[in-house]
Amino acid sequence: MDAIVKNFPQVVESDRVLDRPSQKEAEDAVRVLLRWAGDDPQREGLLDTPARVAKAYRELFAGYDMNPEDVLGRTFEEVSGYDDIVLVRDIPFYSHCEHHMVPIIGKAHVGYLPNGRVLGLSKIGRVVEIFGRRLQTQEAMTAQIANAIDDSLRPRGVAVMIEAEHMCMAMRGVQQQGASTLTTTFTGAFKADPAEQVRFMTMVRSR
Ligand SMILES: [Zn+2]
Repeated sequence: MDAIVKNFPQVVESDRVLDRPSQKEAEDAVRVLLRWAGDDPQREGLLDTPARVAKAYRELFAGYDMNPEDVLGRTFEEVSGYDDIVLVRDIPFYSHCEHHMVPIIGKAHVGYLPNGRVLGLSKIGRVVEIFGRRLQTQEAMTAQIANAIDDSLRPRGVAVMIEAEHMCMAMRGVQQQGASTLTTTFTGAFKADPAEQVRFMTMVRSR
């Protein structure tokens, strides 16, 4: 799978070539985890579960087969000189933490200051989805979204804010339900000028 090898350097910084196991190997692994949880993979209700889980994983982790550069490649210049903030806020996403493989549920707010070119608005949501559908830390995901837009669009600045609830905090360990984690990454004019950061935050919060 060329796509995987191509995409992995963004997530795994090593020279390892990662082979994807067969469907059967994946299903066998799910059976082991079912037994590890204390259940019987042979009981009727669980017979098709390994196949369903393997299929669900391909969807939940589809981001490994998608390259943000493909999404961000097309830009538009016909913007009548518009050069102020473009903000897409409240982009919902579902990810999984790389430490426990349980869900991270949240919203991303992504803004940029155009430099003559703009992105189709739906592309920003697609980029959030691509990075969300991988094993993540919230910090890394925030930076990856900002860097992908920065690299492809070369805007005057990018601002990304993610607010999310981590099920590994809510369901296990400290069991702090409702606690949300906020992360931000600023590049360019947003990084250099605190007033631009305030403007971004104000636009994110205004209702
Ligand atoms: Zn976790």
